Amino acid sequence: MLRLSQGHLNVLETCPRKFQHLYIDRLGSPNDPKLQESGEWGNRFHLMMQQQELGLPIEGLLREDTALKEAIAALKTAAPHLFESQPDSFREAEHGRSLIVCDRWLTVIYDLLIATPQSAQIIDWKTYPQPKQPKWIEQNWQTRLYLYVLAETSDYEPEQLSMTYWFVRLPDEPQSLTLTYNRQKHEQNHRDLINLLSQLDRYLEQYRNDNLPFPQVPTTQQDRCDRCAFAALCQRPTPQPERDWSSTLDEVSEIPL
Ligand code: SF4
Repeated sequence: MLRLSQGHLNVLETCPRKFQHLYIDRLGSPNDPKLQESGEWGNRFHLMMQQQELGLPIEGLLREDTALKEAIAALKTAAPHLFESQPDSFREAEHGRSLIVCDRWLTVIYDLLIATPQSAQIIDWKTYPQPKQPKWIEQNWQTRLYLYVLAETSDYEPEQLSMTYWFVRLPDEPQSLTLTYNRQKHEQNHRDLINLLSQLDRYLEQYRNDNLPFPQVPTTQQDRCDRCAFAALCQRPTPQPERDWSSTLDEVSEIPL
């Protein structure tokens, strides 16, 4: 049984052939040094926030990383409530959940979950500036899957759930974007998820039984191939062949939006 995360769903929806290259054929893709550096800083930020939530000391670690120290201090100033536990609330960093849909194991890990008797909020840290198109974030599978799984695995009504992204990257002030949820969005997510997973079943069957590769993005949309590491393999034009941008919220952090 394939375990699928939001990252898998984003790649599958954006380009099934890329999904095949990355996760079925395991071809991997070259790392962009800038993305790698940005990813390491993001990982350290996430680790510090988790340590802090667990009540572990972080001052010693922050002493050697001024940028990280300042970013956390700026977040504390902008959103002190994120650091304060309320009497009747449940909080957990790196909170994991999973759910089986269409024989696929879907997994999510929330950077922070804050739940009260009335509502539950998923918090996600992003260590890059806020993208200019909130609609794009709402449609990304990270938002959709995270809220969907929480609604399916808890007693909360969809209307009681929300997801807040905090964009934390100096020198900008921390900014947040909260996305609400409701029954209509939940049902739409369910339909889209079933469709996507059914497509995956079909592609896998054709690939294994008939050696038919997963579909490429149509040539009418092949600007999506411009910065893909597999462009040469797919015989698509490569204006910027050295770049590889995937389609998850985390991995597109450096794309100017
Ligand atoms: S080059 Fe285009 S078709 Fe090929 S994997 Fe990348 S995005 Fe998909």
